[in-house]
Amino acid sequence: MRTHVKALILLLLCSLGAQAEVIRLKNGRAISADRVRDLGDRIEYELGEDTYAIPKSLVERIDSGFIATPTSSSAPPSTSSSHSSEAMSAEESASLLVDLESAELNLMRARIVHDGRVDRDAVQAIESTGNQHLTAVAYFAAGVQSHLSGDRDGAERYLRNALAIEPNSPQLLANYAGALMVEQRYSDALPYAEQAARLSPQRGDVLALLGSAYFYSDRTVEAISAWKKSLAMRPSPMVRALLAKAEREQAVQESFHEESTGHFTLHYEGRESSSQLRRQLLTALEGDFDDLVRDFWISPRDSIPVVIYTNQAFVDVTQAPAWAEAMNDGKLRIPVECLNGVSADMAKVLKHELAHSFIREVTHGRCPQWLNEGVAHAVEPRSTAPMGRSLAMLFSAHRQIPLQLLEGGFTSFSGGAATVAYAESLAAVEHIRDTYGFSDVVQILQRIGQGMTTEQALRATIHSSYTDLEQELAVGLNRRYGS
Ligand SMILES: [Zn+2]
Repeated sequence: MRTHVKALILLLLCSLGAQAEVIRLKNGRAISADRVRDLGDRIEYELGEDTYAIPKSLVERIDSGFIATPTSSSAPPSTSSSHSSEAMSAEESASLLVDLESAELNLMRARIVHDGRVDRDAVQAIESTGNQHLTAVAYFAAGVQSHLSGDRDGAERYLRNALAIEPNSPQLLANYAGALMVEQRYSDALPYAEQAARLSPQRGDVLALLGSAYFYSDRTVEAISAWKKSLAMRPSPMVRALLAKAEREQAVQESFHEESTGHFTLHYEGRESSSQLRRQLLTALEGDFDDLVRDFWISPRDSIPVVIYTNQAFVDVTQAPAWAEAMNDGKLRIPVECLNGVSADMAKVLKHELAHSFIREVTHGRCPQWLNEGVAHAVEPRSTAPMGRSLAMLFSAHRQIPLQLLEGGFTSFSGGAATVAYAESLAAVEHIRDTYGFSDVVQILQRIGQGMTTEQALRATIHSSYTDLEQELAVGLNRRYGS
């Protein structure tokens, strides 16, 4: 998503002189805050007019004025990082694994999974018995385990091997489709999801998966139908929310036209966009596409849906926060009221949103939000220079939002906090690019796509932890913009 970043970070800086409470994190870092509240499992803190929350398990203690207040938490530090894919929520992604309650499958998992990993020798021992069905179940169990532990390639390979033996198992077909969808390969997944639904038309979980395969393949009408059937068999708040989103989209798009080029499918309403505007949009997007293929060393396989809305329809469909200018949730959604041509600002919006599609492809949808937004802003291109001085002050006062807390989405942030989040994200990516080269930025994305956590990918590529990166960033900002 892209914001007006001209509104600056002053909100946070206004309160620099006030007496602060200090949250000491277990990783050695500290966050100064105006006010801190203990909410049981979370610590909520206020900074300027904004409120943030962090898991209490990350907090060592809170220093209030001169009195240190130890927190009573004895939980281990959280090691899980919340990767946010704008295209699919974590809950939806998890729902792509269907029917794991099978007793046969669970027994097999106990045989071939040891210490959370697939034991290849155990799988081979079952292969060597020559029992085809058991071998298929072993591959299936190994595929599911690989999926759960983030080994996307392994999951796909094992499930494909299982399907080669039992090509008409709805459970296998659905899970193979799910594995492909996690890889963002929606059009590849669709025939498997369709076949699974044909073979088991009474299964709500399979129909829910089929709905997602249609929706992300830009086939909203079929998605609505599949999700409705799924809900009739199995109530699910998540599927209900997805259906509502698809229906909002369909209501707006009913009168839309469609136009395809090599890499894009454009949806537009005739009255709202001139043919000249559409031509300019597609020309700009095709030019951006070529640039991004060079930058990221990949080319997305599926045609990318682009939807042009009036401003009001954009808000109705996306329910995006007021500060959003455009959105990429698997489709590029662009509000263009009263626009007759692609202005310089509009060209940046287009490149930014398209960059998210490439980043999603490289990272298989696992990119943390700060890196996702930082890279998309950097390729627009955009620079931190206009807000460099404010950023330098923010970092030297240790009042930045830790990057680790920016791994999840920003859409719940208020305008002020979102502005800071985007500015820090861009500053971090600029720092990596200017110090190590853009190829290292791409390598970090690739390593995340291969299953590393963000911190592991940072260490493997630029030999920095989050803490190191923020310290380097503070020094760099101060050198460039400090007084
Ligand atoms: Zn963005």
